[in-house]
Amino acid sequence: MSQFAPFYPPQRTLMGPGPSDVSPRVLGALCRPTIGHLDPKFTQLMEEIKTLLRFAFQTSHPMTFPVSAPGSTGMEMCFVNLVEPGDKILICRNGVFGERMRQNVVRAGGEAILVDNPWGDPISIDEVEQTLKNNPGIKAVAMVHAETSTGVCSDVAKLSALAHQYDALSIVDTVTSLGGIPLKVDEWELDAVYSGTQKCLSCIPGLSPVTFSERALKTIDARKTDVQSWFLDINLVRAYWDGQGGRTYHHTAPINQMYALHEALLMLHEEGLQPAWERHRYHHQALAAGLEALGLNFVVDEPYRLPQLNSIWAPEGVEEAQVRQQALHQYDLEIGAGLGEFAGKAWRIGLMGNGCHERNVRLCLTALEDGLRQQGVQVTSGAAKQALDHRYQAKS
Ligand SMILES: *Cc1c(COP(=O)(O)O)cnc(C)c1O
Repeated sequence: MSQFAPFYPPQRTLMGPGPSDVSPRVLGALCRPTIGHLDPKFTQLMEEIKTLLRFAFQTSHPMTFPVSAPGSTGMEMCFVNLVEPGDKILICRNGVFGERMRQNVVRAGGEAILVDNPWGDPISIDEVEQTLKNNPGIKAVAMVHAETSTGVCSDVAKLSALAHQYDALSIVDTVTSLGGIPLKVDEWELDAVYSGTQKCLSCIPGLSPVTFSERALKTIDARKTDVQSWFLDINLVRAYWDGQGGRTYHHTAPINQMYALHEALLMLHEEGLQPAWERHRYHHQALAAGLEALGLNFVVDEPYRLPQLNSIWAPEGVEEAQVRQQALHQYDLEIGAGLGEFAGKAWRIGLMGNGCHERNVRLCLTALEDGLRQQGVQVTSGAAKQALDHRYQAKS
């Protein structure tokens, strides 16, 4: 007898910063038979995934595909291909992921020029413009569309247009925005864009959809040095995903994960982008009404809030970790902790993709009300439920 046993995870409700609840349809796709990655049926699937990703990103860029690794790898792919030693890259930093972009630039031998904005604030367009003016020769401006560490949305359409005015490219993190809020890669003329699968696409973690504009690819073609990463060199991966003139082996794609991604993208396509964006906004507003009824405050000012990631201050004197632990143990509900500057001070409530619906909003508020009461906070019994009943009835 083996001392080991199969692992059966508990059935949790995931309302943190990702991964989000994965639909049974996506999990079902994952356990279909594994076929060869150069099987003609698989290459057909690869083509369809590219087409569906173009739909999700709202782009016609031919170079749109999923990198076989998590969102952080999509980030790295953008930076290692676009940054050569000595290149000046403007980094907009207003949370954890902006800081990671800076580290990527430095490791690629580039010079990071920072525009720092307070955590919870969007990126300041004026400060970016001033910095572009004061530092001629900036090659790219890197920005996070949806900062998951704070719950703030930045205007990447404006920032990318500004970059172009100064002859710079835009590098855009859309890990948490894709599928949750409007994202229009072509209309906004974004150049190097990466995302993830486990946030608003509600797929399993471990893949990173990316898309590169013609302008970005030309810049990469004009490199004087080789891309330092073999795996992430777009000129090598291209022969695998491009399909022009036959596919050649680069690495073995995570085949079953691709089934899952295809299914998740299919679900988004069936729902439609606009309805998906509206659904996120609608349930966010209900959640916000319930949180307000509990006396809780948002970290981010209303116009810049992400519907899919709600950062809430933990009230003074409340042990925020205990509230989360209680939610996990008594409700099988995961809510996110504060990250970085907000550690120990805030909660992050995700309403992402397949997890963004009324039942989850109700569960989360019930668990929070219970948790706050346990912590000795005076809450009006049933106030959150009443706010939700009002909200949800108002629709039907
Ligand atoms: C989650 C996240 C990432 C990293 O994605 P992983 O899949 O965890 O590597 C990058 N940027 C943002 C904004 C994210 O929310």
